[in-house]
Amino acid sequence: MPDKYDVIVVGAGPAGYVAAIRAAQLGLKTACIEKWTNAEGKGVNGGTCLNVGCIPSKALLDSSHKYHETKTDLTNHGINVGDVDIDVKAMIGRKGKIVKQLTDGIAGLFKSNGVTSLFGTGKILAGRQVEYTDHEGNKQILATDNIIIATGSQPIDIPVAPVNGNTIIDSTGALELTETPKRLGVIGAGVIGLELGSVWNRLGSNVVLLEAMDDFLAMMDRQISKEAKKVFTKQGLDMRLSCRVTASEVKGNEVVVTYQNSEGKEKQEVFDKLIVCVGRRPHTEGLLAPDCGVNLDERGFIFVNDQCATNAPGVWAVGDVVRGPMLAHKGSEEGVMVAERIAGQKTQMNYDIIPNVIYTHPEIAAVGKTEEQLKQAGESYNLGIFPFIASGRALAADETDGMVKMIADAKTDRILGCHIIGPSAADLVQQVAIAMEFGSTAEDIGMTVFGHPTLSEAVHEAALAVNGHAIHIPNRKKRK
Ligand code: FAD
Ligand code: NAD
Repeated sequence: MPDKYDVIVVGAGPAGYVAAIRAAQLGLKTACIEKWTNAEGKGVNGGTCLNVGCIPSKALLDSSHKYHETKTDLTNHGINVGDVDIDVKAMIGRKGKIVKQLTDGIAGLFKSNGVTSLFGTGKILAGRQVEYTDHEGNKQILATDNIIIATGSQPIDIPVAPVNGNTIIDSTGALELTETPKRLGVIGAGVIGLELGSVWNRLGSNVVLLEAMDDFLAMMDRQISKEAKKVFTKQGLDMRLSCRVTASEVKGNEVVVTYQNSEGKEKQEVFDKLIVCVGRRPHTEGLLAPDCGVNLDERGFIFVNDQCATNAPGVWAVGDVVRGPMLAHKGSEEGVMVAERIAGQKTQMNYDIIPNVIYTHPEIAAVGKTEEQLKQAGESYNLGIFPFIASGRALAADETDGMVKMIADAKTDRILGCHIIGPSAADLVQQVAIAMEFGSTAEDIGMTVFGHPTLSEAVHEAALAVNGHAIHIPNRKKRK
């Protein structure tokens, strides 16, 4: 091991491993410490995202979607497949292979970029030093010019439903079920609740989501979340808003959940499995020596400025452990920004344009401001909406639920936000994110030639509709 590194990254999730690779690409002598171990006790990189987050959840979403589509939707195309069966263990096994392939891939990327990969735990000491403890308990003090903290987040526990890894599980447990529970309870109708609730609903569980707030998907544009609620209810998700869980009791293989409903009445529900997904919290336990100089904010996140520098000189922090949306791509971009700034570049990430996607079917995707945020800020704007029912390609694919909603500044026509529920919403919203990054107006997108027939045409038409020029729907505003 060298006497001194240029950069030590603590945590090899999407924020940390990307930061380490970029730092090494820029010629910096870089090490990345990661404490995650797999079921065999072997150190693995990739963090929450690759091991128990984005990737495994999408693997199960895709498998369960294919099963459900084959079972129920293919007849619409004239395809009769007879009895359709699902082998849940095989589905989980496939997910495991994907995780292994990708986490092994990071080890390969570290090697090819010259990042030193260290498995074990990192602790930030004063004076730009890191205490590294390997999995055998051997300790070493490593010196470095820069430290990048990328220790991520972990699920929030609630005392009324303590996770026991069997009947009451968190998102990680919900990715490992080897049979479909008959009655599945979910506390929290947020992103994880909807994604994992959808997986097991498609496979045949009766899914009840208990959500404390009266607003459904409060962070999304209201019109989109209203449509989402309609669509998910049609799919069989039983979403109960304004429901506060007050107790849970495990009785054998069941769990009895007591909650107060929207009318203040006490109710009970019995489930075979209960998933608790009420948010995540920053992962900082045992990380910071008291004199290391790194401060936390009032919510327990590591305090950083817009460039992800902490209070301590030479110490940076990126990803879920700092403020902002808990999204893999947000952390990765912060990792790139910090590595480049350490190398002397002036990189600044644009926090205003971060796409946010919920991978249900149809997908929900957003970038920029919602209509409610603009109203609250007193901004004047124009709207264009195009429903997928009017898209030839969506009709051909039998995927007509949802819409594209484009919002542009009333004076400059600059795009301020785009909100989509519909087929391939994640990929469609990315087109608008690119346009926004280039300062595009709705008219610019309107003047762009879109291939026909594509789902992207819905983005084109929504942009045209902003100025009353949509061709394939009546315009709310008629303008020359
Ligand atoms: P993490 O991925 O949490 O990685 C942090 C790493 O640091 C971990 O490997 C941890 O072991 C390690 N670590 C912690 N402390 C130490 C220490 N002291 N020493 C050494 N190592 C340490 N986001 C999306 O953008 N899209 C999605 O589709 C998506 N789906 C998700 C689905 C689920 C079920 C979950 C739970 C999350 C999902 N997320 C998704 C969120 C995404 O996983 C996180 O935003 C992302 O992983 C955060 O990256 P990170 O690198 O900051 O932290
Ligand atoms: P979330 O914040 O999305 O949703 C949690 C929900 O639980 C909220 O609606 C909240 O009102 C509700 N809630 C909180 N306490 C409750 C209680 N006691 N009883 C009932 N409801 C309660 O959090 P999550 O679903 O746990 O996901 C955590 C984070 O992981 C997300 O915020 C997101 O950043 C990330 N994530 C992203 C994706 C994606 O990008 N597709 C997927 C999964 C997770």
